[in-house]
Amino acid sequence: MARSVLVTGGNRGIGLAIATAFKEAGDQVAVTYRSGEPPEGFLGVKCDITDAEQVEAAFDTIAAEHGPVEVLIANAGITRDTLLLRMSEDDWDSVIATNLTGSFRVAKRAAKGMLRLRRGRIVFISSVVGMLGSAGQVNYAASKSGLIGMARSMARELGSRGITTNVVAPGFVETDMTAVLPEETQKLYLSQIPLGRFGDVSEIAKAVRWIASEEAGYITGAVIPVDGGIGMGN
Ligand code: NDP
Repeated sequence: MARSVLVTGGNRGIGLAIATAFKEAGDQVAVTYRSGEPPEGFLGVKCDITDAEQVEAAFDTIAAEHGPVEVLIANAGITRDTLLLRMSEDDWDSVIATNLTGSFRVAKRAAKGMLRLRRGRIVFISSVVGMLGSAGQVNYAASKSGLIGMARSMARELGSRGITTNVVAPGFVETDMTAVLPEETQKLYLSQIPLGRFGDVSEIAKAVRWIASEEAGYITGAVIPVDGGIGMGN
């Protein structure tokens, strides 16, 4: 049966690949976008996840069109990279507000409907740097490891109602987010990846689709690395 799926930040990059993977599996997929036009073939809901009212309105729209969200992929995220002593409070706050608080906001709203349905899948898109740390990404790494504690707490609260809560932790994936990194940084990452290449968005999408599937019904509170091996052992 087609499920009502929401992918935040599903208008480009990893999010769009995830949305496409669910659509290919026959689900009804909504994506958030902030400006411009939503991608074709999806229910586009204009929504900045840092704004509580916009999140509320987006969920109402999706419920009216597709039914309550049964599968939430909290994917929207930003970076504001700089070294610790140059990192302003604004750099810190904006990354935490989007990556961590924004994910909390959408997950809380989604859980409300899932508790009524007594089933659901919540997947947070974290990052390998949430576990490894990353010079120049104090704010980003903190937000991404924060998702893990949050997901595991939700897994304990929601598990008895048939709701699983998991984390997918990608490594280096070629998108707009990583295209801006200096060539030297990209070379350094590449030298540390056992599989010897960067990831493709479709490889993240397939793992997300699987962890949200019926087949993965006995997995909750897990952190699934999709990182070419760069984060092994963490
Ligand atoms: P992109 O920069 O390509 O896309 C980010 C997406 O998030 C966009 O759709 C953007 O929307 C959306 N977004 C950002 N802020 C908000 C907001 N306040 N409200 C709603 N949507 C928002 O990033 P990627 O596709 O590379 O990354 C997707 C996720 O994967 C992120 O959480 C990222 O941290 C994570 N990740 C990425 C890795 C990589 O190597 N690329 C590695 C590990 C994790 P808009 O178009 O409107 O700006």
